[in-house]
Amino acid sequence: GERIPHWLDKQADLNPDRLAIETADGRRLSFAQLRNKSRGMAHALIEEGVQQGDHVALLSNNHPLFPIFIHAISYIGATAILINTRLTPEEISYQLNDAQVSHFYVEKTCYPKALETVENMNIPVKTVEGLNLDKTGSSDLQTELHMDDVYTMMYTSGTTGNPKAVMHTYGNHWHSAIASALNLGFQQEDKWLICLPLFHVGGFSVLMKSVIYGMPTLLLEKFDVTLVHRSIMDKGITHVSVVTVMLQRLLEELGDQTYPDYFRCMLLGGGPVPENLLQETAARKIPVFQTYGMTETSSQVATLSPESAFTKLGSAGKALSTAQLHIDSEKNGEIGEIVVQGPMVSKGYYNRPAREEAALWTGDLGYKDEDGFLYVVDRVNDVIISGGENIYPAEVESVLSALPGIREAGVTGCYDQQWGEVPEAYLVKEKGADLTEEKVMEWCEERLAKFKWPVNIYWVDELPRNASNKILRRRLPFLFESRDT
Ligand code: AMP
Ligand code: MG
Repeated sequence: GERIPHWLDKQADLNPDRLAIETADGRRLSFAQLRNKSRGMAHALIEEGVQQGDHVALLSNNHPLFPIFIHAISYIGATAILINTRLTPEEISYQLNDAQVSHFYVEKTCYPKALETVENMNIPVKTVEGLNLDKTGSSDLQTELHMDDVYTMMYTSGTTGNPKAVMHTYGNHWHSAIASALNLGFQQEDKWLICLPLFHVGGFSVLMKSVIYGMPTLLLEKFDVTLVHRSIMDKGITHVSVVTVMLQRLLEELGDQTYPDYFRCMLLGGGPVPENLLQETAARKIPVFQTYGMTETSSQVATLSPESAFTKLGSAGKALSTAQLHIDSEKNGEIGEIVVQGPMVSKGYYNRPAREEAALWTGDLGYKDEDGFLYVVDRVNDVIISGGENIYPAEVESVLSALPGIREAGVTGCYDQQWGEVPEAYLVKEKGADLTEEKVMEWCEERLAKFKWPVNIYWVDELPRNASNKILRRRLPFLFESRDT
């Protein structure tokens, strides 16, 4: 396969003094410093036994040692298995076994959970804080990256079945970053704020963009709405990646203010977006770009271009320049499964049969409008079929969450003797909201065809979500039953 010079060596050569990573407490690393520390950590890891080709797991929140660790792994030519810190010890040990991990590194705060995880396993736990970043050694570090080598593995959030490890090659990450730059453009003054977890592809892909473009980043430990807001207002931020709930909180924080003119991209993805939220951001001229992607596509695969952001509200845009996207449906313009293909699409899952076709059937439903713009409708498995009509829970949720006083809505199907299945809604109120079932029904009756009206309304404190924060719709009924009895 193809090889390229190690991308961090390249940036340390081209832009040694340029900022690579800044943290909220004001620590700053240039590309040359990031390279030196990453190489130092690589030598320290080698001394602890890590070798080329090894599977090394990392359990860490967003921490300055996270990027250093993943670059160190690339200098060794090992594979990083990135683990969601919200998982339970049982879930983590499943992943360590499944990915055949031989080394397990954790951020100090995750140490107790890690010890519990390996109780019945033969994997030592070590902290990243314990690695000496100034270590030198005689081992040769990688000076080139092989595009076909597997660099990272991340488990899919999947809302059903066992999680699977998505394999990402260097080439997948490279092509993802380049395709994004061809869409959004890259300018010298760009600076991307990271508030998504780095163990997910949405956060991780910003680290890849940083090292591939030579772009500064501001790395936050987590999404803290005040801190994110203040950072956008006065830290020279031009881009930020967010999911829907983050955007909602940011709008509340923004109030009557506006973001600085140079702030040019709020990349919004990872799940459905209620239409009223998009209307509000459009009215307030906030540069929101809806994007569609998944772990398997190494982040974005389609994004609404800046030119169309306001005219194609609700669309996730078109496939990025090197990607292809089509809808598997009988007729043009009809809803069908979204099928994607391109050099950012993972070849498959670790330890599972390889996909036979180049194209990936995503399990998501969508359609293209007459201009070829993608609209993501819902997940194939969540569709409610009611008397032969398809009901998309995301559409009903979008209408419900637009009702003032509703914080969140989850919709799923329940058995019905006459129709097979009918929708029911689980709603979380804003604090102090004065809402009744009648008000909700009135709202729906004005906005939805009759077969989409929820037959039951349940008020709940919160919606069940998986570790990636996706609503587990099929679990909604169980949540209510256990609450009630
Ligand atoms: P993950 O498996 O965690 O990588 O999440 C990817 C999934 O999130 C996709 O397969 C979609 O179901 C959903 N998703 C991502 N972007 C969008 C979007 N713009 N609109 C609706 N759903 C989305
Ligand atoms: Mg998925």
